[in-house]
Amino acid sequence: MKKMKAVLLTEPGKLSFIEREIPQIQDNEVLVKILHVGICGSDLHYYEHGRIGDFVVTKPIILGHEAAGVIEKIGKKVKSLKEGDLVAIEPGIPCGKCFYCKTGRYNLCPDMKFLATPPYDGAFVEYLAYPEDMCFKIPTDMDTIEGALIEPLSVGFHATNQANAQIGESAVILGAGTIGLMTLMVLLAKGLREIYISDIVDLRLEKAKEIGAKEVFNVTKYDIVDEIKKFTNGEGVDIVFETAGSEVTIKQTVNLVKPGGRIISVGMSPNPKIEYDFGKLQAKEAVINTVFRYRNIYPFAIKAVSEKMIDVKKIVTDTFGFSEIPDAFKYNLKNKYKTVKIVIDMNK
Ligand SMILES: [Zn+2]
Ligand SMILES: [Zn+2]
Repeated sequence: MKKMKAVLLTEPGKLSFIEREIPQIQDNEVLVKILHVGICGSDLHYYEHGRIGDFVVTKPIILGHEAAGVIEKIGKKVKSLKEGDLVAIEPGIPCGKCFYCKTGRYNLCPDMKFLATPPYDGAFVEYLAYPEDMCFKIPTDMDTIEGALIEPLSVGFHATNQANAQIGESAVILGAGTIGLMTLMVLLAKGLREIYISDIVDLRLEKAKEIGAKEVFNVTKYDIVDEIKKFTNGEGVDIVFETAGSEVTIKQTVNLVKPGGRIISVGMSPNPKIEYDFGKLQAKEAVINTVFRYRNIYPFAIKAVSEKMIDVKKIVTDTFGFSEIPDAFKYNLKNKYKTVKIVIDMNK
């Protein structure tokens, strides 16, 4: 059996290079040589704390779920892909049989196998055996860095779908991390222009401005609620996207939305039980929609990047090689205020 290299999280803060057998493919699967993998906030959480919310690492795990690569081999029944195709890998494999899967909401499947979510290993490996229908071919005018970033872009896509965002509407995005910036790019592509964004990190706000936010606010210096009132004649905005996942920003959403508006909860708070002003929410007849990952987005997100409507690479601040993955994690943790997205070049 041929061996491959992989990177294993053996305990919080410790990543080790190991050898595994190159996986055998089933008839409906392809063997993907992984070329690029993004480091996600969730990978960092598992690395630092060994958990996120109810997902707890109880045994060593391979991290990484934002991945793209090249097809090395195809299973007997595979029809849509061939050797040499570049693919973006959608990291969740749903069961396909349950009520949620059958009604198209497979992100809610209770039997979802999601890469780098305990107990399932992720993509910091040389090769991955993966179902054909969860690998999405990327066109020749795109590369696998963009392919890997289709994953966080899909979260932003899903968030704007959950908001039913319409051309000409106004929006606030709380948090200018990867998901906040992805949401910003999708909103701009959908024709919204009055988009305000807040964060505590200047570098991220500079990115947001460069991408096309109307106004950016560093909330260590400005009160976002006051500022939005000023810019909207005291009314608030049509849509509020909460992507920071902090107690403070979650509570603020109701003060930022205008009557009849929508609040989209995207960020995951470390403490999920939060005091919230439902009285005010009702008086405004505003709605809250939530976002859990995404569904049926990959083909559209790929098209948006390929057709130059969205330049996902703008959020990449650093790249590291495969052999530097442990350094990349250390660097990312230490320099949270200097990085947005780190991408691993798995060939280096
Ligand atoms: Zn991610
Ligand atoms: Zn299912």
